[in-house]
Amino acid sequence: MSKRLSPGLRLFLLVVVVLLAGSAAIMAGRQAAAWALRGLLAEVQGRLEVYAQSLDVAVERFAHLPYTVALDPAVAALARTPDDPALAGRVNRYLAAVGDRAGNAVLYLIGPDGNTLAAGNWDRPGSFVGVNFAYRPYFQAALAGGEGRFYGVGNVTGIPGYFIASPVRDGGRVIGVVVAKVSLDTVEAVWREAGDAVLVTDRFGVAFLASRPDWTLQSIRPLDEPVRRQLAETKQYGTHPLPELPFSTALAMADPVRWIPAGPAGEEIPFVLARKPLGQEGWTMLLLGDASLVVRTERTAMAGIALLAVLAAVMLFAWRQRRRRLSEQIQAQAALERAYGDLEHKVAERTADLEAAKGRLEREVEQRTQAEQELRAAQNDLVQAAKMAVLGQMAAGVTHELNQPLTALRGLADNAAQLLDQGRESEARENLTFIAQLVDRMSKITAQLRGFSRRGDGAPGPVPVATAVREALALVERRFANERIIVDVDVPSDIKVAFEPVRLQQVLVNLLRNAADAVKGMPDPFIEIALQRTSRPGLVALVVRDNGPGIPDTVRGRIFDPFFTTKPAGEGLGLGLAISLAIARDYGGTLEASSLPTGAEFILTLTEIRTGGRPA
Ligand code: ADP
Repeated sequence: MSKRLSPGLRLFLLVVVVLLAGSAAIMAGRQAAAWALRGLLAEVQGRLEVYAQSLDVAVERFAHLPYTVALDPAVAALARTPDDPALAGRVNRYLAAVGDRAGNAVLYLIGPDGNTLAAGNWDRPGSFVGVNFAYRPYFQAALAGGEGRFYGVGNVTGIPGYFIASPVRDGGRVIGVVVAKVSLDTVEAVWREAGDAVLVTDRFGVAFLASRPDWTLQSIRPLDEPVRRQLAETKQYGTHPLPELPFSTALAMADPVRWIPAGPAGEEIPFVLARKPLGQEGWTMLLLGDASLVVRTERTAMAGIALLAVLAAVMLFAWRQRRRRLSEQIQAQAALERAYGDLEHKVAERTADLEAAKGRLEREVEQRTQAEQELRAAQNDLVQAAKMAVLGQMAAGVTHELNQPLTALRGLADNAAQLLDQGRESEARENLTFIAQLVDRMSKITAQLRGFSRRGDGAPGPVPVATAVREALALVERRFANERIIVDVDVPSDIKVAFEPVRLQQVLVNLLRNAADAVKGMPDPFIEIALQRTSRPGLVALVVRDNGPGIPDTVRGRIFDPFFTTKPAGEGLGLGLAISLAIARDYGGTLEASSLPTGAEFILTLTEIRTGGRPA
């Protein structure tokens, strides 16, 4: 049961359990009701026997009365001579006395024609004397020599009663009939007092005795026309309409328990029914026993079992929940332990990975650092080599530049000595002044060369672009003059950039030399140097343009490669642009080349430094 059931199966099981519990409750209720009912039926049947007997006793108490009275000589005499008033009076008194003695009975003598000759109630209102009862079956039966028995409503009094008739004989001849009308009120009163619902019906189903007055003279089944006609002829129940009992269908049912509106306010109460046929006249006694207890028992049993079922279901559910919770807890714990184990494993793996990665990274960093150092060294070497090359190339120019003043110095010195010998002191002094000027100029040239060959210290500082341009131009001045190259400079004097002055000068010299190479042999060699602002704040662009042949597409992608040159051997090393690009990048700048229809254009971007020394 530790595994979960599917929702569908669970619903099915729930329905089954509910159905089982429901049918168990119903069965238990039925069983309890059946037991209770069996007891009740036995009890009701027993009471019915008692009631039937008491009714029999009540009736049979009077059975001998008309027979005995009919034997009285005076009674027979009156039957024989009905017109004797004195005799009639005597018989009247006799009948009254006997009736009183018997209690609750009216005795009367009927002549063979049906006329009443004497009656115990002769002196009371509703006396029977003179009334004709020829139509009554009991009279007819007695006149025929038998005993007449009949229950009916008095035609004169309207009071119901039990009629017992016996013939008055004169020898073998019936000359009259003596009738005892017995009231059964007392019997009904006893039933009422006992609290039982009792009915006695005649052979037609008309209830003529009942523990409740509102049930009398009602039928327990429909009366058909011939029956009604017969009843009308005998005036058994006078002119009473004899309606059907409101619960006649409930009485006709086969169910043991019937619901009958017999409550104090007309509400339906469950009853069980017991019947017993009485005597020869087709009477039936019905006893309705209160079955509330049976119903209550059934309901209690059903409720009890249902409660038990619910309790059992709840306990089962609770037990299942508990088991599930326990198993879930165990599973969760196991999962947790697994997860913890996994985690530890993963952490160990990750740690190892990280350790390895760290080692790799460290090695890589080491390699990179080493590579960078090597690169930097190589770059420096390259820069130095390039400088040396430039120096070498410039050596001729420089030699010329220095030879000229040296030759002049030699001449001036010789001349000064001669002038001093000749005593022309002031002229000698002029010569000396001129010599000093020449020396100044020469030391300037050498200072520039020294500065160019020196390794830059790399520290970027605010360097005025205009100054760097001027110094670079000074280095190539002679060549430009020789080759009649016109230079146009448009550089504002106040813009400073983050660069190392010697490096910037070096890049510019490279660009200017290349430009000079490019415009060589052009009709109007022209080089333009301009400083422009760019769209990106803080960056300025130093542009070097020439009107040379431009850069062919085939070579433009390679001109920044080290040792790439299109120049004849001995003239170009192919290092100038490579070094310049490396330097530009070193200081956070870029160097790009493009070919214009009128020549080539090199753009060097530089980081501007506004006043205060910080990058703009
Ligand atoms: P080098 O000047 O020794 O050849 P550089 O690296 O300075 O080495 O230049 C590489 C090449 O770039 C040159 O050989 C030339 O073909 C091309 N180049 C450089 N500047 C210009 C220019 N202003 N006009 C046309 N081509 C140029």
